[in-house]
Amino acid sequence: EITLDGLEKRYGETTAVEDVSVEIEDGELLCLLGPSGSGKSTTLRMIAGLETPTNGSIAIGDEDVTDLPAYERTTSTVFQDWALFPHMTVLENVAFGLKMGGVSKDERRDRAREMLERVQMAAHADEDPTTLSGGQKQRVALARSLAVNPDVLLLDEPLSNLDKRLREDMQIELREIHEDLEKTFVHVTHDQDEAFTLADRIGIMNDGELIQVGDPDEVYERPENRFIEGFLGDTN
Ligand code: ATP
Ligand code: MG
Repeated sequence: EITLDGLEKRYGETTAVEDVSVEIEDGELLCLLGPSGSGKSTTLRMIAGLETPTNGSIAIGDEDVTDLPAYERTTSTVFQDWALFPHMTVLENVAFGLKMGGVSKDERRDRAREMLERVQMAAHADEDPTTLSGGQKQRVALARSLAVNPDVLLLDEPLSNLDKRLREDMQIELREIHEDLEKTFVHVTHDQDEAFTLADRIGIMNDGELIQVGDPDEVYERPENRFIEGFLGDTN
């Protein structure tokens, strides 16, 4: 599991994340849900090792990873803007992360193909990623993150650049991939429909704080305070 204990991140006068403590179970899909500026990405980036906490600690399994650099963690991140390499083919993009892992060239290709099949992109293996649609790019980004076989997949608003229809399709696919892989997913979104579709548990953030964690029914039916009630009421 992932244990966040008293996690805090300050940027000068701004407190981006304040006293976040939670245990994320192995194999669960936790959605961090909250409005813009509530500290979701900062929390995710600290789990990834892309930001150093000002205070508090992060453990993955039995290992305290608070001071471990990103590349030594068993996490892999999918970003909102896909961040594919434009000068590589789709297959090369997916195989890229395995290069550092010292995996042989043939094995890299096989693994990358396997991942592309999983996200239904095998037919596009030799294409230039800049010619793909948004949804296709996001599938490739997902395959690339999964190719390194992480224990934990971190997703920061991965679907928010897609149109509504595609976003809903991808939510269902993500859920299926999660069930298939049995890996821990931490998925950041400000879209409550997405959180309620995907999550095993939802963690609600506001103003840098994690103010309620529970399964979707619990959060929906028993919001712990007025903010959550209002936030969930907003678009219902
Ligand atoms: P969004 O839904 O808009 O992506 P978020 O919930 O992901 O929002 P964060 O990006 O974690 O929010 O930001 C939380 C707060 O920390 C915001 O007030 C933001 O301005 C501040 N912040 C984040 N990163 C930095 C930084 N590098 N330097 C200064 N302030 C930052
Ligand atoms: Mg964010």
